[in-house]
Amino acid sequence: MKKIDDLSFDELQEAIIGIKEPKFKANQIFEWIHNKTVDSYDEMKNVSKKVKAELQKEYEFTKAAIELKLQSKLDETKKYVIKFEDGNIVESVFLKYKFGNTACISSQVGCKMGCHFCASTKNGFIRDLTAAEMLKQIYLIQKDTGEKISNVVIMGSGEPLENYSNIVKFLNIINHDKGQNISMRKITLSTSGIVPNIYKLAEENIPITLAISLHAPSQEKREEIMPIARKYKLANILKACDYYIKTTGRRLTFEYIMIKGFNDSSEDAAILSNLLKGKLANVNLIPCNYVKEANIQSSDNLDIENFKKVLRENGINATVRRELGSDINAACGQLRNDILKM
Ligand code: SAH
Repeated sequence: MKKIDDLSFDELQEAIIGIKEPKFKANQIFEWIHNKTVDSYDEMKNVSKKVKAELQKEYEFTKAAIELKLQSKLDETKKYVIKFEDGNIVESVFLKYKFGNTACISSQVGCKMGCHFCASTKNGFIRDLTAAEMLKQIYLIQKDTGEKISNVVIMGSGEPLENYSNIVKFLNIINHDKGQNISMRKITLSTSGIVPNIYKLAEENIPITLAISLHAPSQEKREEIMPIARKYKLANILKACDYYIKTTGRRLTFEYIMIKGFNDSSEDAAILSNLLKGKLANVNLIPCNYVKEANIQSSDNLDIENFKKVLRENGINATVRRELGSDINAACGQLRNDILKM
């Protein structure tokens, strides 16, 4: 059956017209679903029984529940395993930063990308998430914590630009003024570099922050750790990034995982600086999380600081990602893998 909470505002209006009701009723219903985040028709107090009965014939609610929750002892970070109707599970994280409450959400069950350092891909790809399943992660976290989410990062499992239409629908619903009204500027989408869809996204006129998982300063090194790099060449990713910056006026983020002895030398930093010189961009250096299935170690703090110094000396903005919830973080996707093995 079709899902009522997976309809964009325009699609909901069409559904209302379809049951021969005036389309303004979509306002109220959209608010119940995406602002008050109800899970059933019963909870829609000021909507007539007749309208609800008609909708119910064709549309049901997406079902999702918190299967497991881990609370950090070091800070406010909470990690959730969320289960959907078909039994599939994904991970989502609640992070409390000074600038606001952030939800890190997954865009797919599993992942096809095969990045060597990443736990999310070790059990392969299962399916795309619907827009409603991405929204549900945020709604469930808000209900569980009792706190409003102000920032969203699409950095959980999956490659969001390989789930393109659902991602764009998700962004438009979460941003809608009758829904959660989260500003596009407070949303970051991370991609391993799906070139054609970076161009497409630039044309959508949605001013989110795009983050590119670069992780290596050259085509050769990138191919060693990211199989997708063979398909989408570094030079073409950087061209697409220039186009994105030019079209949207938005500053880009380049994510760079620090892997001991692989990509963390002063020379790597110098090559990376040359690559990114003159771009409206930040480099986010990420200490690599330990992943059981991968034989990879994080760089030492001193090497990370030195790497940052070289970038800065070359005029590149660089920051080191602060680690929250390191006691429960068990690298993204790791928790799901553990559960799948049980
Ligand atoms: N597929 C998208 C989004 C999901 S991954 C992408 O590749 O960007 C989100 C971020 O977490 C990416 O930058 C990814 O490379 C990073 N990541 C994956 N495994 C990691 C690990 N073991 N330690 C630190 N960051 C990791």
